[in-house]
Amino acid sequence: MTTTKPTVSFEFFPTQTQQGKEKLLATFDSLNTLSPIYFSVTYGAGGSTRERTLDIVDSLCARSDTPIAPHISCIGDSKAQIAELLERYKAQGINRLVALRGDLPSGQVGMGELPFALDLVKFIREHTGDYFHIEVAAYPEMHPQARSFEFDIENLVKKFNAGANTAITQFFYNADSYLYLRDALEKNGIDTTDKPLVAGIMPIVNASNLIRFADSCGADIPRYIRKQLADFGDDRKAIREFGFDIVYRLCERLINEGVPALHFYSMNKVQPNMRLVEALGL
Ligand code: FAD
Repeated sequence: MTTTKPTVSFEFFPTQTQQGKEKLLATFDSLNTLSPIYFSVTYGAGGSTRERTLDIVDSLCARSDTPIAPHISCIGDSKAQIAELLERYKAQGINRLVALRGDLPSGQVGMGELPFALDLVKFIREHTGDYFHIEVAAYPEMHPQARSFEFDIENLVKKFNAGANTAITQFFYNADSYLYLRDALEKNGIDTTDKPLVAGIMPIVNASNLIRFADSCGADIPRYIRKQLADFGDDRKAIREFGFDIVYRLCERLINEGVPALHFYSMNKVQPNMRLVEALGL
């Protein structure tokens, strides 16, 4: 069987310090040598990282011609704030966005004028027509607050029908959950060759951070992975090698199943991402 190679993109989060920013720019330069189709930069819901996200986006745009896709979240923000961001990005020549609801930082209340990502996708299309390529979020293992799997699928279908071009999944380590979601989209009338389901890939480098993050966002870490990570304790080298093997196998399976694109949650690191992309021959 011949398979087409998936495209690759990387996600960054905005850093807190100038030193962190310099490291991030060096990471960008290294990962950029892998010819990704874009880099995305996360955005703290309720505007909590607004200035830092904009600063990183500006710096990356100035650094190379590789497209930058800012994340934009709607929960807790006003329509006016979002319209202002859209205009800013448009004026900068940015034409790709990752559109999300976001999760409010604890203590912050009020959903804002656009409570769900679907409202945001509609708002972007109303205000800027077809200008932006819009990516939305998808959940192979269900969003933790979803009423049911069916409800979550309907929500994703609505986001596509409202104008999303592509969906990026939450990270997962069970390839079947991705394939099941892709089939469910097809059954619900979404042609995934036209509206691709991009696999979100989380390299494994730090066991405790990974487990904490997975628990908070409802991503499953299969028992055979969780147990082995626990057994390795503080042996970072063993975790790194095991993590590489697990994620390499996951990507290999997805590639054999025709995944159109891999989006790496880079954690602002070079090595684990570069090693995977190079080993996979992407
Ligand atoms: P939605 O699609 O709006 O769905 C959220 C939940 O609401 C789901 O359970 C859905 O089933 C439910 N729902 C939808 N409509 C309704 C309705 N009318 N009534 C009741 N329930 C409803 N977070 C950030 O803060 N910043 C980021 O930069 C960021 N980047 C991300 C990138 C990716 C690729 C992914 C997968 C997630 C990212 N997140 C980010 C996390 C994301 O914001 C959270 O998972 C958030 O809880 C949901 O966002 P969403 O866009 O999927 O929301």
